[in-house]
Amino acid sequence: MADLEYKVIVGLEIHVHLRTATKMFCGCELAYGQQANSRVCPVCLGLPGALPVMNKKAFEYSVLAGLALNCEIAKFTKWDRKGYYYPDLPKNYQISQYDLPFSEHGYIEIPVEGPQAKKIRITRAHLEEDAGKNTHTSGNYSQVDLNRAGTPLLEIVTEPDMNSGAEVRAMAVELQRIVRYLGISEGDMQKGHMRFEPNINLAITKDGKEYRTPIAEIKNLNSFRALEASVNYEVVRQLDEFERTGKVMVEGSKTTRGWDDAGRQTVLQREKEEASDYRYFPDPDILPVVMTDEWLGEIRGRLCELPLKKQMRYVADYNLSEYDAGVLTGERANAEFFERVVEAGGEPKRVCNLLTQMGLKVANARDCGLAELGLKENDMAKLAKMIEGGDINASAGDRIMQEMMVSDKGPGKIARELNLIQKSDAGELEAFVEAVLAENEKAVEDVRNGGKKSKAARGFLLGQVMQKTKGQANPQVVNQILQEKLKSK
Ligand code: ZN
Ligand code: MN
Repeated sequence: MADLEYKVIVGLEIHVHLRTATKMFCGCELAYGQQANSRVCPVCLGLPGALPVMNKKAFEYSVLAGLALNCEIAKFTKWDRKGYYYPDLPKNYQISQYDLPFSEHGYIEIPVEGPQAKKIRITRAHLEEDAGKNTHTSGNYSQVDLNRAGTPLLEIVTEPDMNSGAEVRAMAVELQRIVRYLGISEGDMQKGHMRFEPNINLAITKDGKEYRTPIAEIKNLNSFRALEASVNYEVVRQLDEFERTGKVMVEGSKTTRGWDDAGRQTVLQREKEEASDYRYFPDPDILPVVMTDEWLGEIRGRLCELPLKKQMRYVADYNLSEYDAGVLTGERANAEFFERVVEAGGEPKRVCNLLTQMGLKVANARDCGLAELGLKENDMAKLAKMIEGGDINASAGDRIMQEMMVSDKGPGKIARELNLIQKSDAGELEAFVEAVLAENEKAVEDVRNGGKKSKAARGFLLGQVMQKTKGQANPQVVNQILQEKLKSK
């Protein structure tokens, strides 16, 4: 393939299931993995004459998301019917929002290489209902489960501001963190809580002219891996197609493709329908929503510090690495636990090490958060101080922390009981060092002769002192004493 100069252009459409107790327009329970068609009623079955009623909580969750995405929230928003003729939505239309969505013109900040976040513009976010689920695994007939039909679905549409598969993935991951922070969705990919549809094309420069390849929309991706892989695949496919055919974007040349996970490729599904094919019209059964300043203010009050802000603050204020800050801010409850320990006086880096290593290891094994490990914030701060002050070493810190999870004792008491306090008293340690030097004349000579053997000999002597003190000596202090003694000999 000749080396063409090109730019990848990707916009994203995301559907997010909201975590409400009941469906968008009826009182049916939202439950995952229950017996098929056990959570249905005349409204979500689309029986004639049934009247939908808006779920206020779902609307508030959506507005909260809109605010977090820096969107303008509409004072007036209405509901529309979108023509949809498939067995998984028996009304034959989906209740959605067409020309007056509840929010528009926002942006999301995503982490990219370098110190600055990148802004991805949000075109709009609207609320709609999900369809049910068709399955085709029962031989020569298909089955429909309508438990999911009517699930509140937040649809977010971005501007084509992403320029690589990695950026698209970063955007998706960031959005997942945000909806979890806000508590409006579990964002569980396995349960289909988030589905992605990237719109991909290329701007190719050839002989000083720019060409745009036809946009491909990849439908219904439900993993970050598939999302990134499908974008990367499209880049190669579109480059290749352009070289072979010279095809460029014209009216109506947009196509819809699916992702074949086994074959690791996208496959053509159909030419794109236009919005007019959906025959949108206002739903006469549902009242429009009028947003008052009071109501909006109340929802705004539920916003929290967003994950990326938090992450960047941890790096700037606590000097944590990008990586550690990312791990700590992965879950809001974990981040807040960390902050409480720091507030109680724990040195951030020490606290971070304790929590991201032993803490998360145990929490993940127990499938719970850091705050559910039975650790008291004050005790954790004390433990971090003990390590910071050299009273105990880091591995003793982990030991003590494990003990703290199952007992009410403070870290000091546990350290004494388990004999983990380091000997840092120079006077006491000097005697041990003297003894070791006397017993190991050969090693002392090696050190004094310098050269290759000297480093190993130093290590050996330090090891001997540690052994003599049953591992309880503070190695830094021992090292200092060793240094002095070996110099003066
Ligand atoms: Zn229902
Ligand atoms: Mn949609």
